Amino acid sequence: VELGNGVTVGGDRLAVIAGPCSVESEAQIVDIARDVKASGAAALRGGAFKPRTSPYAFQGLECEGLELLKEARADTGLPIVTEIMGTEYIALFEECVDVIQVGARNMQNFDLLKKLGRHTTKPILLKRGLSNTIEEWLMSAEYIMSGGNDRVILCERGIRTFETFTRNTLDLSAVLAVKQLSHLPVVVDPSHAAGMYWMVEPLAMAAIAAGADGLMIEVHNDPPHAKCDGQQSLTPEKFGHLMQKAGALAELMGKTWVKGGSAC
Ligand code: PEP
Ligand code: MN
Repeated sequence: VELGNGVTVGGDRLAVIAGPCSVESEAQIVDIARDVKASGAAALRGGAFKPRTSPYAFQGLECEGLELLKEARADTGLPIVTEIMGTEYIALFEECVDVIQVGARNMQNFDLLKKLGRHTTKPILLKRGLSNTIEEWLMSAEYIMSGGNDRVILCERGIRTFETFTRNTLDLSAVLAVKQLSHLPVVVDPSHAAGMYWMVEPLAMAAIAAGADGLMIEVHNDPPHAKCDGQQSLTPEKFGHLMQKAGALAELMGKTWVKGGSAC
């Protein structure tokens, strides 16, 4: 699946999507974009519309956030990945983003999935629902593809289990299962799976070893003051360290490293 600007996910490649949980300001997103690009990221993530558990928590900068993502893309050349919350935003996202993320909470929003199948040709990063089976996840991918958009990338982000120490339980066997059952590329998000920054690098390595086509990693330049998910965010320095190790492991796994922003 091509993300834009020559960045392709799947096959024998390893691509890393990185960036903050949410876009907070121009300086924040542009600085982080430059940092993750320098470490070899393929694409920039950042939420403009945030699905928060509490209605009183920061909901994202919304349309202003999309504008800031566009600035970060213009600055770095990295394709941008951001979450869509409803069908009313499809035309806007078609115009300004490179990859449309469907978050865990919307994995079974069938109306949204159908319309993303019919009304956009942008790649869709489909996160696994908090409590959804592999079969349900693949059926959600079918909803998009049967509408005519076959550019789907799956994202395993941890599932809810009886365990409460970690935010979720990372299901790496799901990577193997969806590779067996489908042709779709699958990336792993260890940040939302673990919920703790110090677990992110080891889980990322495990994901590569399990054969993931890529990673999605939350990176923030000031994690203690992040408006969302600071506790699971890596600093740019820690992300750089992860990328060095990931590069070595990718080579061992016979994967080619995909870097973004080369055209810029
Ligand atoms: C996110 O990627 O910022 C996010 C909200 O993730 P999830 O939908 O997996 O909880
Ligand atoms: Mn987050």
